[in-house]
Amino acid sequence: MSSQTRPHTAESLLVNSPDFVVRFDLDGNRLYVNPTLAEVYGVPPEELLGRGVGKTNEVVDPESVALMRAMIVEVVRDLTSRDFEITYRTPGGARVAQYRLVPELDEHGRVIEVLGLGRDVTELARVQRELVERETRFRDVFDNALDSMFLLEVSPDGQHFRNLEINPALARMSGIPREAMVGKYIEEVVPPEVAEAVNSKYRHCVNAGVPIEEDAELDLPAGRRWYHSTLIPARDETGRVYRIVGITRDITERHNAQLALAASEERFRLAFDDSLLGMALLSVDGEDGRFRYLRVNKAMCEFLGLTADQILGRPHADVLAPEDADDTVATLNGLLSDAYTNYHTERRFVHANGETVWGLLGATLVRNPEGAPLHVLAQVEDITTRKRVEEQLAFRALHDDLTGLPNRALLMEHLGSALARSQRNGTHLAVFFLDLDDFKSLNDSFGHAAGDAFLIKVAARIGSTLRASDIAARIGGDEFVVVCENLTELSGATVLAEKIQRALAVEIDLDGHRVTASASIGVALSHEHSTPENLLHDADAAMYVAKHSGGQRWQPADASLHAAAIRVLSVEAELRRAIEQQELRVHYQPLVDLHTGAIVGVEALVRWQHPQRGLLLPREFLDVAEQRGLIGEIGQWVLRTACNQAGTWRRQFGDRAPAMSVNVSSRQLGNQGLHRQVDAALAASALPVEKLILELTESQLLKIRASATTDLRTLSERGVKIAIDDFGTGHAGYEYLRRLPVDEIKIDKSFTQTLNIDRTGSAITAGIVALGLGLGLTVVAKGIETTEQLHLLRDMGCTWGQGWLWHRALPADEIHALIAQSARDANARRSPTT
Ligand code: C2E
Ligand code: MG
Repeated sequence: MSSQTRPHTAESLLVNSPDFVVRFDLDGNRLYVNPTLAEVYGVPPEELLGRGVGKTNEVVDPESVALMRAMIVEVVRDLTSRDFEITYRTPGGARVAQYRLVPELDEHGRVIEVLGLGRDVTELARVQRELVERETRFRDVFDNALDSMFLLEVSPDGQHFRNLEINPALARMSGIPREAMVGKYIEEVVPPEVAEAVNSKYRHCVNAGVPIEEDAELDLPAGRRWYHSTLIPARDETGRVYRIVGITRDITERHNAQLALAASEERFRLAFDDSLLGMALLSVDGEDGRFRYLRVNKAMCEFLGLTADQILGRPHADVLAPEDADDTVATLNGLLSDAYTNYHTERRFVHANGETVWGLLGATLVRNPEGAPLHVLAQVEDITTRKRVEEQLAFRALHDDLTGLPNRALLMEHLGSALARSQRNGTHLAVFFLDLDDFKSLNDSFGHAAGDAFLIKVAARIGSTLRASDIAARIGGDEFVVVCENLTELSGATVLAEKIQRALAVEIDLDGHRVTASASIGVALSHEHSTPENLLHDADAAMYVAKHSGGQRWQPADASLHAAAIRVLSVEAELRRAIEQQELRVHYQPLVDLHTGAIVGVEALVRWQHPQRGLLLPREFLDVAEQRGLIGEIGQWVLRTACNQAGTWRRQFGDRAPAMSVNVSSRQLGNQGLHRQVDAALAASALPVEKLILELTESQLLKIRASATTDLRTLSERGVKIAIDDFGTGHAGYEYLRRLPVDEIKIDKSFTQTLNIDRTGSAITAGIVALGLGLGLTVVAKGIETTEQLHLLRDMGCTWGQGWLWHRALPADEIHALIAQSARDANARRSPTT
């Protein structure tokens, strides 16, 4: 047929073509099939001829058969070619063939046959399908990725980069729409400085030729943020990097967190290293064990006097004082067992120089974010100075500054516990109350510095006599107390009292002067009802007895002394209040000229107008004032009041005004004290000096010392008169009459009272009167109650008298009337003779 008309070469092509070749007549019956196609059917080509597709032992899918037939119809009808695919079966499985049907026309343009060219495209189709699938999968990832992705085209010179594709995440992240990016060079999309920053990274990737990772902060429309990018270069067949795939992630939050962490670490480092407080990190667990130094700062090193190298790795307890070590470790363990979260406590540490230093230790447990203990942060404030001051203050609060001996407070505390001990043990406790004899005059003569040196030496002497269990305290200027435990009887106390006296009697060198000390000692022995207070009072009271018996002796206390001591204390308290409330008064008792009966003087006598007990006489309170040091203040007040009163009378009665006698205690004398007071009182009252008489009792005169004598002399030289009161009772020779400037003696009323009773009394009294007169003194008889006494004394030659025969001591206004009367009487007496 027409195939036979084809040139030989064409025939060979058809036979050997790998493609399928088939010719159909206009009804779709095969006119020719080449061997390649026949092979698919597995029959000789002739068996296929003259039949339509689907009319043989068909291998083509029924759907593909229908398609093929329809296509033939269309080609014949439309005179155009058609491309399509069919599927067919082989023993190896289904396969796909691509067909093109072409109309064959005659010279008139009429269709005469349909030529079919087919090719097995099974492999190609599979590859294409895979490509599509892969593309789809990649698209899915690309479009839905949370990370930004982009594909860049690299310019041949490797300098410029064009976006081939970007994913939605990049558009979102950058704030630049996809359309604005795709197909554009970077510099067309972002401002120059950003473009330069970005391009330089891409260039770096091109030059490196391997994937790189980069962090950068970029100012994009979405804001200034930090980005982390991975750039992957792709090479073409020549090895040139022609594409870059990029993946970018916004790491601003992480970056900021890192910055914050770094900043906080830096802050911690600064706070730790530069702190003025000692700082340390201690391990909480580890091979070495707990609480070893992991890190220390400079202040900590200085606090301990060690270098960091000398501290690190050592256990915390190593640098603590042994007595605080166990406690501290226990407290640190408490931190770990959650007993508390931090604590502050004062601890002793050992400095490199061996000294104990004090630190205020604060410890906190530091945990990691999961809550597991990391380490202990310890802070140590150096409080050594404060502690030393506190210790000193505590010591000083309880000790005497001068001698370092316990003071009254510590003594009482000690006495309390010693007493409890002795009551438990059935033993006795002895309290020795020592008052140095003549300390005041020693102080006056040598000065205070020497007085202090003396007291220090005395304290040492007392201390040298004691056993370890005894203590000595200094509770006043020259008052010491010794407490001695475990005595069984008073004789033990006797031994100690004498031992102390002997120790004091050894000469002490004071600025080249050799002096000895002596003390009046009161000793109280505890009994079952003793309290620290009454023991001390008893000893004190006994000491007074010793002192008043001349000093340099010791005196045991007894119950009556205790009562006396109680009275002294209560009167003292009341008297102090009375002085404040101005309850004291001065009454005046006239002194009468025994020959004329005229009032020549008055004696000022102090009274206490007690709110409950009425008017109290001196014997009820003056001894207490003497003992408790109030006499100076009272005496000064009486002196002032009396002088004022005398001054007033002087202005009222002129020469007929009485002289004013004021009683003075020896305690007011010395150190020029009294004569200054007298000067002031005289100046204030305008009383002529010769109208003032100061009375001192004989027994007090015996006690006064050198400086008191000077005081008296000065007063006498001024013109003040000095009277010896209670004359004849002091059991002293009259030697002092030579030494002292005496103007007057007042004979004690005990003499007056014996006058009419026994002859001896009268003789002695007469002798005393004669003695006084012989010395040219005014002789005053006290306590005259009867006219008989008056006559006897007047006959003996007594100058003046004082007594209830005339008047008792009376308030000033009543005395005023008496003086006025006396002045009138005197005038009357004088008138007849003149
Ligand atoms: P004194 O200096 O011997 O004073 C005389 C005392 O004898 C007064 O006692 C007085 O009231 C009392 N008296 C006077 N006439 C008679 C009498 O006829 N019979 C009797 N039985 N007694 C008479 P008073 O006021 O109780 O004073 C007692 C002592 O107190 C005084 O004795 C004196 O030593 C002292 N005194 C009084 N006032 C002061 C003062 O201001 N300073 C000082 N340091 N001592 C004073
Ligand atoms: Mg008197």
